[in-house]
Amino acid sequence: MTRLKDRRYEHIKRVAVNTLIECGIRDVPIDPFLICERRGYKLIKYSEKYNEEDMAVVVEAFPNGFNYYDKGVRIIEYNDNYSIERIRTTILHEIGHIELKHTKKCLLAETEAEWFAAYIIAPPPLVDLYDVEDFLDVSARFNTSCECGFHCMRRYQTWKRYTIFKKDYERQLVKQFTGDCISIDNERNVITYECN
Ligand SMILES: [Zn+2]
Repeated sequence: MTRLKDRRYEHIKRVAVNTLIECGIRDVPIDPFLICERRGYKLIKYSEKYNEEDMAVVVEAFPNGFNYYDKGVRIIEYNDNYSIERIRTTILHEIGHIELKHTKKCLLAETEAEWFAAYIIAPPPLVDLYDVEDFLDVSARFNTSCECGFHCMRRYQTWKRYTIFKKDYERQLVKQFTGDCISIDNERNVITYECN
């Protein structure tokens, strides 16, 4: 995978956390379907839309999924012929493209969306809330494949080693998941953080 600039990683992490906060996600495993519902992104399964012939063409072009605008609505189509773990990652990847405001398909956009999905599925500050002993724990708790759980555990261990003080967005994320002092005014779409 292409290596991104450090400040870009930081941007992606902030965007991922903002997505969770703005969508009012408070539980793990992270629910990509709920994020789509709250963002107004419409989900379409390949099996609902394509006949056998068209399916072969679409899977060839987009093995996992893709997104586009249609009459002002953001649509995510996904290949539902895979495991739920893979489908969850696919949808989070497409959410990444949308939240990161990608406008064209290129290697950089793919790398960023991959990284967004890998982060948001088990953000290290959330892994830290649970007594996880190994990658299998992470995989079970965050509903990922074992391979993904392994990478999430590695990312968490690195984060733990180098984190003395959590960043502002990491603290906000933890507060949301522990139910502390955060309120969302849906009408005005304003999020109020009350930090200690
Ligand atoms: Zn992509």
